Amino acid sequence: MVRYLRRATLSGLESAGAFERARMSRWRRERLLILCYHGVSIADEHEWRPRLYMRPESLAQRFELLRNRGYSVLPLPIALERLYENDLPPGSVALTFDDGAYDFYQSAYPLLRQYQLPATVYQTTYYADYQKPVFNLISSYMLWKRRGSVLEPDGKLPLRQRMDLRTEEGRQSVVSELMAFAAKENLSGREKHEIAGHLAEFLEIEWESLLDKRILHIMSPQEIAEVSASGMSVQLHTHRHRTPLDEERFRKEVSDNRKRIEEITGSAAVHFCYPLGNYERQFLTWLRLEGVRSAVTCDAALASSDSHPLLLPRWVDASARSLIEFEAWLSGIGHLLSRRGKRRYIPQTALDYQGGRLGLRSAR
Ligand SMILES: [Zn+2]
Repeated sequence: MVRYLRRATLSGLESAGAFERARMSRWRRERLLILCYHGVSIADEHEWRPRLYMRPESLAQRFELLRNRGYSVLPLPIALERLYENDLPPGSVALTFDDGAYDFYQSAYPLLRQYQLPATVYQTTYYADYQKPVFNLISSYMLWKRRGSVLEPDGKLPLRQRMDLRTEEGRQSVVSELMAFAAKENLSGREKHEIAGHLAEFLEIEWESLLDKRILHIMSPQEIAEVSASGMSVQLHTHRHRTPLDEERFRKEVSDNRKRIEEITGSAAVHFCYPLGNYERQFLTWLRLEGVRSAVTCDAALASSDSHPLLLPRWVDASARSLIEFEAWLSGIGHLLSRRGKRRYIPQTALDYQGGRLGLRSAR
């Protein structure tokens, strides 16, 4: 009902010309909308995680709208520089894609090229070098494929509890048990991959076919290099998608990630994205010490020149969002109608997928 009312309100505002007025306002001109995308489906990932994934057709619809309504899509480093110099063009937007998954390469990258849009990819690197599916995500996806079942685990799986796959909560508790086992035994990537293989066999899922499609894989170094050479900006997202609370470990995640990205792309990586949108006060100091110039969260708002460069808000777009909501956020109306104080957004994902003013001008 709330959703229905919200859409009806947005439609009313749009037909009354409010979107257009907001879009052209001075208020909007002083602001930048940073859009966040997580995944663009290769198969049915948007049905598994509608708040994180989107079909390529929906992404094309978004791009069409950006083009037809005259929005200015800027590369993020340039957009930030212009934001802090109060020099943005009307309707400024920057596109960002988290994780650098293979689905970006397969489903989003061709569309970006077709529409000639610049984007920033926040690249996690451990699974770029280890070309297997991300363990907790593929486990969660396969359990979702067998949703509705209640199963007794066999001896090959390190599970004690009955597997109740009827609810998201039940499936998540199986993933958590697998993750806890892997952490306790300090399993290598290869050992975790073996467990995922057993799980596939147990659930009667065609493992080889999932691996062939490269669902829930990260881009290979060659693919990352290609994306970067075509003009996309490849930036920091930690090596193993982790933000440890210990300074040394946190900074190593950032420096390992940067080193690998710079080796692959030959370009500097100084823009950061908090994995899962999680941030703590002490991270700001550590990021500065690592030479990071900007960092984005998943808190929904438009960025202004008052925004802290290491706490830049973004609006997360996915299957669960309607086209009119997307348009409302482009125009600025979405920001104006959003509830203050409820902005912090934690993406609904498996728990620990382990893994201007700051000299932005020189950071292109
Ligand atoms: Zn991420």
